[in-house]
Amino acid sequence: MVEVVWFKRDLRIVDHHPLIAAVATGAPVVCLYIAEPDLWAQTCASARQWLFIQESLQELRHDILSIGGTLVIRTGDTVSLLDRLHRQVGISGIWSHEETGNGWTYSRDKEVAAWARGRAVAWHEFPQSGVERPRRTRDGWASRWDRKMRAPIIPAPAAVRSLPGLDPGSIPVVSDLGLAPDDCPGRQPGGRLAGLDLLRSFLNDRGATYHREMSSPLTADTACSRLSAHLACGTLSMREVAQATWGRLAEVKAMPAEVRGAQATALRAYIGRLHWHCHFIQKLEASPSLEFANLHRAYDGLRENEFDQTLFRAWAAGRTGFPFVDACMRSLASTGWINFRMRAMLVAFASYQLWLHWRETGLHLARLFTDYEPGIHWPQMQMQSGTTGTNTVRIYNPVKQSTDQDPEGTFIRRWIPELRGVPGSFIHEPWRMPEDMQNLVSCVIGPDYPSPIVDHEVAARRARERVWAVRRGDAFRSEARAILIRHGSRKQSSVPLRGRSSRAVAPQATHDRAPVTNSPQLTLDLSGGDS
Ligand SMILES: Cc1cc2nc3c(=O)[nH]c(=O)nc-3n(C[C@H](O)[C@H](O)[C@H](O)COP(=O)(O)OP(=O)(O)OC[C@H]3O[C@@H](n4cnc5c(N)ncnc54)[C@H](O)[C@@H]3O)c2cc1C
Repeated sequence: MVEVVWFKRDLRIVDHHPLIAAVATGAPVVCLYIAEPDLWAQTCASARQWLFIQESLQELRHDILSIGGTLVIRTGDTVSLLDRLHRQVGISGIWSHEETGNGWTYSRDKEVAAWARGRAVAWHEFPQSGVERPRRTRDGWASRWDRKMRAPIIPAPAAVRSLPGLDPGSIPVVSDLGLAPDDCPGRQPGGRLAGLDLLRSFLNDRGATYHREMSSPLTADTACSRLSAHLACGTLSMREVAQATWGRLAEVKAMPAEVRGAQATALRAYIGRLHWHCHFIQKLEASPSLEFANLHRAYDGLRENEFDQTLFRAWAAGRTGFPFVDACMRSLASTGWINFRMRAMLVAFASYQLWLHWRETGLHLARLFTDYEPGIHWPQMQMQSGTTGTNTVRIYNPVKQSTDQDPEGTFIRRWIPELRGVPGSFIHEPWRMPEDMQNLVSCVIGPDYPSPIVDHEVAARRARERVWAVRRGDAFRSEARAILIRHGSRKQSSVPLRGRSSRAVAPQATHDRAPVTNSPQLTLDLSGGDS
């Protein structure tokens, strides 16, 4: 009989509770990774995501080999493969991390659980981060997160007693999984070593001005940690990242003020983001349906029947006629990453100005994100689309974002070659260029670069009115309150759960970012709303 360690989104051997626990049984251990074509056939999946995993598996295989084990890789349906292995060698236990994935992985896990029950195979699952299998209350969640992140990091086992004679199997390539080719020349490489390098360079150097430079796409790609894909695939554990950050924070605090600069502020802001990672995944864990349905059901029917394919295609191709929006989309397509603020703007623009339903736009973005993490992605999609019913309605002005975040148009020119010759005075609104200038700079609006697909101010006003029309009314408020109790953070900075009127206030004029103090919201939870 063997113990199976089922690697899923935890591609490391350090801080791997299931692995150390399986090894501790003393039985032979099969380290197993299953590439599931049905998972990769989901419309949120893409080759860039698999390529990152493929590289991470190569390293994992090497790391497991270094402690005497073998990473066995199979391609196919998990239940059938477990069944075959069970008949071949006899499985006494399966050891894995709990996974908060998408609807498909949730169903697969239920099938695995039923299979294991039917064969008296014990399935031991361990939490992977601060995310908890649903409890009846969120109270105390933040302090439990803190405690778990401060618990000692589990070292890699010194040795694994493996089972001789099992074919290790090969790591499938993109076409084995039926994935379409995906041109992403700037994709970041996978593998734990790359993750550790990023962590080191962020904490010791790149992240010194994180809090100030995270918002502009000109600076964010180096000022942010870029660890999201590693956290999504588990090449590094959240605890490792959190403890390294706390360690660096202690060093920084011991420095003289003139050397320290703003580094402590940057690191504290970063720890907040690590907390949000789990806070958001917890929402999907508690309400798996929010991958598919509006969190606040009063929004049902609002956008569903008005999906305009032409607007969607223009947005997805980076051809809306709004240079900053288009530059963000093209940059994302080419690199597999963009910073939080720009993700939020891309979604808000699609959901409000273009009035596109978040599910379809969310699938497109998921495929473009190397770091696709369902538990962050879908709650964020809904939050930025105003369908949680509990968050500020934040409609971004794409021209103001452009002038604020890319004042000289450097980012725009990098990603939109058609606009390279456009002078600074028109780079944010090229449609305002006089005709003779358009000819002079070889950028005729229409043939060379699209004119704006909507009047963004009119569209934003209309969207705001429609969203707010839903928010008025008692039924809306009572469901919003229930959502807050289920999902809201309990941070001090939040509006108290009771004792403050949750009456919806009148919509404000279209603005870029609502000031938190007078934002028209029912929210108790501002976390994750702004980076
Ligand atoms: C519509 C939308 C979709 C998103 N989809 C994803 C996704 O699929 N996968 C994903 O990892 N992140 C997602 N995010 C959150 C955020 O944009 C990314 O985590 C971040 O840009 C990743 O870059 P980084 O690792 O350099 O982040 P850093 O700024 O260095 O932050 C470190 C880590 O903290 C977490 N984090 C940071 N910001 C947030 C946030 N706002 N909410 C939750 N966790 C956060 C991430 O794990 C991130 O890796 C989404 C945001 C929006 C608005």
